[in-house]
Amino acid sequence: MEIKGSSRWLAVLVGAALCLEAAGTVQASRPVLRVGIHDAGPDIGVADGAGAYHSINTDYMQILASYAGMDVVFVRGTARECEERLARGEVDVLPGLVRTEERARTMAFSHLPMGLGYTTLYLRGGQASLYDAQTPLLLGTLASRYQSGQLPELLSGLGRPYETETFRNFRTMENAYQAGRLDGYFVANQVMGEQDAAAAFDANLLYFAVRADNRELLARLDRAASELAIVRPMLLEKLYTLYRRQDLGRALLFDPAERQFLAEHQTLRVVCVARERPYAYTGADGRLHGALKRIVSRLEQDLGVSISVETLTDSEEAYARVVQGEADICLNMTWEPGWAARKGIDQTEPFMESYYTHVVRRGSEVPDAPRVACLDSRFADTVLTRRFGGDKLLRETSDAACLADVRSGRADIACIRQEAAQYQTMRGDFPDLVSTEAVVYRKNVAMGVSQQADPALLHLLDKEIRYMGPDVTEAYFVQQTQRAINDRSVFSYFYNYPLQIFGGVLAVFLLGAAAFWRYRRQRRRNEQRLQGILDNDRYTGLHNVTWLEQTGDALVKARGEEAARMAAVVIKVVQPSVITATYGREALVTLFKRLGERLTGESWAALVATRTNAAGAACLTHPVEREDLQVALRRILADSEYLQVGHMLVRIPLEAGVCYLGAPPMDLNTAINNAGLAAQEAQPLCFFNSALQRDTLLRSRMESLQQRALERREFHIWYQPKYDLVTRKCVGAEALVRWQSAELGFLPPGKFISLFESNGFITQLDFYNLEHVMQFQRDCKAKGLPVVPISVNQSRLHMREKGYLHHMRALVDRYTTEGIELELTETAFDFGSEAIREHSLAVVTALHALGFAIDMDDFGSGYSDLSLLNQLPLDVMKIDRSLLLASEESERMRVVLKMMIDLGHSLGMRVICEGIETEEQEELLRNCGCEYGQGFLYGRPMQRADFEAFLRAHA
Ligand code: C2E
Ligand code: MG
Ligand code: MG
Repeated sequence: MEIKGSSRWLAVLVGAALCLEAAGTVQASRPVLRVGIHDAGPDIGVADGAGAYHSINTDYMQILASYAGMDVVFVRGTARECEERLARGEVDVLPGLVRTEERARTMAFSHLPMGLGYTTLYLRGGQASLYDAQTPLLLGTLASRYQSGQLPELLSGLGRPYETETFRNFRTMENAYQAGRLDGYFVANQVMGEQDAAAAFDANLLYFAVRADNRELLARLDRAASELAIVRPMLLEKLYTLYRRQDLGRALLFDPAERQFLAEHQTLRVVCVARERPYAYTGADGRLHGALKRIVSRLEQDLGVSISVETLTDSEEAYARVVQGEADICLNMTWEPGWAARKGIDQTEPFMESYYTHVVRRGSEVPDAPRVACLDSRFADTVLTRRFGGDKLLRETSDAACLADVRSGRADIACIRQEAAQYQTMRGDFPDLVSTEAVVYRKNVAMGVSQQADPALLHLLDKEIRYMGPDVTEAYFVQQTQRAINDRSVFSYFYNYPLQIFGGVLAVFLLGAAAFWRYRRQRRRNEQRLQGILDNDRYTGLHNVTWLEQTGDALVKARGEEAARMAAVVIKVVQPSVITATYGREALVTLFKRLGERLTGESWAALVATRTNAAGAACLTHPVEREDLQVALRRILADSEYLQVGHMLVRIPLEAGVCYLGAPPMDLNTAINNAGLAAQEAQPLCFFNSALQRDTLLRSRMESLQQRALERREFHIWYQPKYDLVTRKCVGAEALVRWQSAELGFLPPGKFISLFESNGFITQLDFYNLEHVMQFQRDCKAKGLPVVPISVNQSRLHMREKGYLHHMRALVDRYTTEGIELELTETAFDFGSEAIREHSLAVVTALHALGFAIDMDDFGSGYSDLSLLNQLPLDVMKIDRSLLLASEESERMRVVLKMMIDLGHSLGMRVICEGIETEEQEELLRNCGCEYGQGFLYGRPMQRADFEAFLRAHA
């Protein structure tokens, strides 16, 4: 309860009324104790809206009243008002008074003191201005307040004249000071920030007092106070800690003697027992580290001196240094003043409390009489010896050594500082040890100075300790622990968080496993898709030949000896490019789809594949008799020949080749190739046989020899003359290649041209031949031989060859096109697409433009496309021998032949017929209007020398 008021009379009235009211309401249970309190300074205050008081005086009275079984009502006023109210009986008790003789006349003082008060002098400019100037001072003081007798002494000691002015309350005095009317003032204790504080002095015990005649109340309160002193011996200290020590920012005030001491000792020598992290330890640099290092820095900063530190591990040695005057201060000693005094050391107030804890092996049982590793210290001598027995102690020189003892089993327990235990276990150097964390002992740590030293040193150290307060050391430990967390080894986490880490690892593992499983599934799908692409024919979607070969191998092996009667079957379309050009690729796709399905349905077919690109289907059979297979295949060929394209029923000629695997079974790839070769020979069905086998062998030999043959000039050009049918004179020749092979003997073009066309070598050979002929023409000219046009065959591959025209142009530049004709067959214009057709036409047009005459070779042998005659710049129509033979047989064909010859003429072409062997044939042709001819009748292809002679005779 608080009473506010600007007027003291009002305050008294209201206070009295409230007191009466309070007394009236609670009297039934507890009597009321009216306590007068004065605002001698702002440290007696009401801090919150709930009306709670916060000061040593009010808290003490509250506790005291409770012990006396009373309720408290506080009545606020100035110091003088409080004393007047007590005299009038308006309040019962006043707390926090200094006992003076004058007061003892009207008041009865408590038996026990309730605290300690002193006086602080505040001056503008703080302590410095007290010593630095000599001007007279005007100082404020509070009326009716205990007047310090020591002040005159203090100021006169400085030779400083002063006067005082008395104020009724703190606020008016403070106002006067703020307004500059006062140089300073003095008040009870320290009430404000350190800036203006100049001196603190004259400590006095404080008592509570009642009116002199109220002995009964005093007895009751004294009894309560006595009980409190016994039951709560630390009460006053705790209140002091609560309200004074934790107030930071109080001034650090030195008296003249202390100032003198500091002036004379600019360097202080400190010795420190350093053997525990993070409390105090010697770093790698040989210097002191840890919390005590912070204390040293703080001393340097606050006292304005420099400090040299020597670190030791033996405490007795450290004390000896101080006693012998080799060090001024021992930084850390167990606080035990009597023990220290016997060594000749005076101790300061403890500046920190150390807490000790036990560290044991993880999961181990501690025996009843454990061996204890500890540091050699006063603490071990007393507390630990009492507790465990001196013979059970293992005295070490560092906390790490203590922990190592426990780890090795030399000790059961390490008794070390709690923060050291925390630090070491946190860092993870001793992951197998665990701290109980509980505080099992505590001890106070103080500094020690020699009893021979200037007492000023002890004073100023105590002042410094008070000034630092307890928070400082605690803050240091927090920092050090933080450092331990930073230094922490990864290993320690496994010990400290086994479950969490196990859970984390498990989670990561599961996630990884899930990701891997997904990856594997995706990969399998991709592989399946890729395998599908690899195994299936793009167009029909049925299996392809690669798949057949791979799958078939296992099947063949499984059949053992029976495999000899298994066969590879290949079915092909005759002239597929014509079908594609005429009916589109779809027609082929449909055909092979149907064929594939048909084959699959056959009982003898084991595996079926299609190869739309090569216009074929392939099949591996179960063991089957040759005759049965033959019948079955002929039926299939006959049935599949007709295909519905749009509204038309189209005949698509098929051919089939068969190759038995034999014993031992040949590999499938070879068997399929052989069947393919057989299919080429098929009319329409052919079984691969020994002749084909030889042929195949020969083809592969030729292939391996072809390049070398070119280099060795094994290809020879033979010349076959062309005749004028009327004059019977030689009017030209055709260059025809022969291979005089060192290994294979003489080979006509029919043996190797188709092979070279299939492997592409023909393009090289053609250039070689063409150049040879051009050279021949140049030589003839040079030798003065008759020069007749010579035609050179050009493979259809050139139509799609890159750089063909470029190459031809180079030849033209070197030689001449004069007397050179190029023979192209119709198949050069077997086009897969309109684009290729366009390209081929462009190439021929360009050749013509280069100066070559163009002959249409083998005209009438195949699907003669008459539109070609219109589109191409043709000079010569060369009628195929088959047409001549057919005309001999039939009158109708003769009509066709004549019409063709006429067509050629009317398109402005010369017409020549090849393969004339008889006079009758010559006659027939002449009758049909054909002007030129080529054939055995006039001359077989002959070697260069023979032809030169022939030219001389017949040209
Ligand atoms: P081709 O261009 O139609 O050549 C005419 C073929 O008919 C030649 O066969 C020739 O010897 C043959 N022949 C000529 N007169 C008669 C005859 O009265 N009766 C019979 N039964 N045949 C006769 P050869 O020399 O065996 O050439 C075959 C094919 O090889 C040529 O047919 C041509 O397509 C090709 N060829 C020859 N040399 C070359 C060449 O250098 N390059 C290219 N790309 N193909 C060539
Ligand atoms: Mg020819
Ligand atoms: Mg020909």
